[in-house]
Amino acid sequence: MCGFLGIFGDKEVSKRIYIGLISIQHRGQDAAGMITFSKKFHLKKGNGLVRDVFNEKNLSYLLGNIGIGHVRYPTVGSGKAEDAQPFYVNIPFGIILAHNGNITNYYSLKNKLEKELNININSTSDSELLLNYLAHEISVHLPFTYENLLKSIKNVFINVKGSYSAVAFIKDKGFLAFRDPNGFKPIIFGRKGNEFIVASESVALDILGFDVIDDVKPGEVLFIDMNRKVFREKIAESEKTTCIFEYVYFARPDSTIDGINVYEARLRLGKELAKKIKKLNLKIDVVIPVPDTSRAAAAAVAEELKLPHREGFIKNRYIGRTFIMPEQDLREESVQLKLNIIKPEIEGKKILVIDDSIVRGTTSREIVSMLKRNGAKKVYLGIYSPPVISPCYYGIDMQTKKEFIANGRSIEEIKKFIGADELIYQDVESLVYAVFGDKNAACCNACFTSVYPVPVDEEEKRMIEEDRTKKIELF
Ligand code: AMP
Repeated sequence: MCGFLGIFGDKEVSKRIYIGLISIQHRGQDAAGMITFSKKFHLKKGNGLVRDVFNEKNLSYLLGNIGIGHVRYPTVGSGKAEDAQPFYVNIPFGIILAHNGNITNYYSLKNKLEKELNININSTSDSELLLNYLAHEISVHLPFTYENLLKSIKNVFINVKGSYSAVAFIKDKGFLAFRDPNGFKPIIFGRKGNEFIVASESVALDILGFDVIDDVKPGEVLFIDMNRKVFREKIAESEKTTCIFEYVYFARPDSTIDGINVYEARLRLGKELAKKIKKLNLKIDVVIPVPDTSRAAAAAVAEELKLPHREGFIKNRYIGRTFIMPEQDLREESVQLKLNIIKPEIEGKKILVIDDSIVRGTTSREIVSMLKRNGAKKVYLGIYSPPVISPCYYGIDMQTKKEFIANGRSIEEIKKFIGADELIYQDVESLVYAVFGDKNAACCNACFTSVYPVPVDEEEKRMIEEDRTKKIELF
């Protein structure tokens, strides 16, 4: 999971890219970067939040009316600053690129590039690999024309497996975006006068005052030439399997992805979960969300069950993510640092807590214990997604099976581990129905079902998991 944003402007872009990156900071807090273009490329990237990497001074060096920015959330790769995006190459043209997703044939493609094509990959980032492969395809389809660019990207779509939504700029040629044939990760583009924007989420367009034109569709190429003529073409036929976890957890609720607003999807997820909870006839005094993601769903659950809806937790806004804290005891402490309860809303009450997902179980266990320590009579836990049982190879940071609490455990066992009086998960069918309005809608829900829309080679899986485990140990 990462986020990107590119602007093809008619005035300076660096400050606007900075603001846009802050609006999609939730997509990656590990590193940030930007490349702009005015006669030459200007680059700044590093580890940390957008506000840590950029300042007034370095933004003033990022000159130009064209630029691309990125926030990183590492899935594969070392997590070092040199792995931060965007990347650039000089051959056959200056090209800059940022990407969101995860290439699942990374190791074999890297091998091919290095051994057969003699192209060196400097970092451990799959985005550098994607850029180099694209540059290679462009160089074998010269002279540069739109038709030849399509031929190049067609080969990218055939040979690069997994998930990749990308934005790029090719010096003196134009601005480019493409989305893998399955469209795992979102891309949206918009316009303000003569200026164009491409971003991972619509919130960046809202904040920067651009009007939405459309999502880039799965298997589609968007190209805007230097005269600002817009070309669009879907060049790969395949089933659209957008990542459902974007709606469950990842995207901002004020974003709209492929025409579906994330907040509205979460309301429907709450409504579906409430139907299941209703059947249990539990005696519930109050519904409370685990902030912030599950707020919409909790409101919908309360409405559906005709129960009071309150805030029971306050989130410290200045604490970073607890999810990738390497050691379990650190993770547990940071849950408490992050969330504190509002005691009068808890004491003596039978509480239905709503959260988006359970991965390792750390958050839920701590939450239940916190509520009980503070006098809750009963704690029922409603999770508006199904149990996470399989690693994501397409870009969500949950890659080793052994991390999952639901791996090999029954719901009853998970409930015991967490200490809840009742544990209600969403069913897969209801999840898909709530988000897409059709329980059979094609999407990627591999983390809940183990059904992978793009098969991943066993050796690649092993390498990805090994890489992920090493990274956890490195912290
Ligand atoms: P855990 O404590 O490991 O069970 O993680 C579950 C909590 O982390 C939930 O409250 C989610 O809001 C959040 N979460 C779920 N998936 C992710 C993810 N891929 N990255 C960061 N946070 C996540």
